[in-house]
Amino acid sequence: MSIDTRLWGGKIRKLTPYVAGEQPKVANLCKLNTNENPFPPSPKAVAAMQAVLAQDAQALRLYPDPESDELRQVLADYHGLSCEQVFVGNGSDEVLAFIFACFFVKERPLLMPDVSYSFYPVYAQTFDVATHIIPLKEDFSIDPDDYRIPCGGVILPNPNAPTGVLLGIESIRKLASEHPNSVIVIDEAYIDYADDVKSASAIGLIDEFDNLVVTQTFSKSRSLAGLRVGAAFANANLIAALSTYKNSFNSYPIDRLAQAGAAASVLDEVYFEEKRQAVITLRQNLTASLVGLGFTVLPSAANFVFAKPNHQTLDTKEVFEKLREAGVIVRHWDKPRIKDYLRITVGTAEQNARLIEALQKIFATA
Ligand SMILES: *Cc1c(COP(=O)(O)O)cnc(C)c1O
Repeated sequence: MSIDTRLWGGKIRKLTPYVAGEQPKVANLCKLNTNENPFPPSPKAVAAMQAVLAQDAQALRLYPDPESDELRQVLADYHGLSCEQVFVGNGSDEVLAFIFACFFVKERPLLMPDVSYSFYPVYAQTFDVATHIIPLKEDFSIDPDDYRIPCGGVILPNPNAPTGVLLGIESIRKLASEHPNSVIVIDEAYIDYADDVKSASAIGLIDEFDNLVVTQTFSKSRSLAGLRVGAAFANANLIAALSTYKNSFNSYPIDRLAQAGAAASVLDEVYFEEKRQAVITLRQNLTASLVGLGFTVLPSAANFVFAKPNHQTLDTKEVFEKLREAGVIVRHWDKPRIKDYLRITVGTAEQNARLIEALQKIFATA
């Protein structure tokens, strides 16, 4: 059915929306396509949400705290920041959208890698932001020297998505110091899967650079994709801009259940560390199995791997399609630089085994 856009206002006609990885409603699929966590959220997060519901069934009648003070304080304490340096929103996608609206303009181009989160160009068109695309190096790494050009800002995921490759903290320091009058956004959706999170995360640079914004999400390492909570960490002056925008848009951003569940999840450090380590180990095992099947696997600091099958007769798209027929869904982009790769989410040991078995069968009969 084609859509009649006769009554659509001006700008909406020109937008090409982001396409999320599919959420199929088929049973018994091995879903390794959207980087969700294979483990459940912290039981304490679940209990905190149940406690909200149990509160004389009245809690949901009332609007939530518009500023999410408790959640912001918990996040501030966790990262050694003050509350004024923390902003929260409905998933980091919303936080990123606000960042585009607040800090980037049409007149000065925003720099971003050619291979990165495909939502950035969509936000750029939505918020009328000029972009300048910088190619990754041949090995898919980012060279900060390539970003030494006049710009209105820089945005990149670290580790990068969909490659999983981590950019060292010294490179981020370089970006921030070389563009003192532009906002540098480091999207740390997957940073918790770096072996040493503390030294890999740019949150530690926030007091040093007033132009640095770091975003994180509860969707990946905290197993709460369904709750929709994300955060930005930055100098208080930048956070004030995000709050100003939020309060001009939708002043109650995070619902009561999400505020309670997210805060409890941050406080459960033992569970978090256990599951973080488990995913890292599963990633190492999955990488070894894929290499054993002839794949080239990029070094990943995320909960997914970017892997090239190198098969003699099947191209990557065919491998992707045959996996799908076998009930295993991964992600493939038919784009020039990355069409030979599959992005595979690290699953449970059982899910990873099912993927490897499916690949073995596909290769054996090709
Ligand atoms: C998943 C992801 C996000 C968005 O996550 P939310 O669920 O909206 O918090 C942002 N950036 C990257 C690179 C991601 O992979």
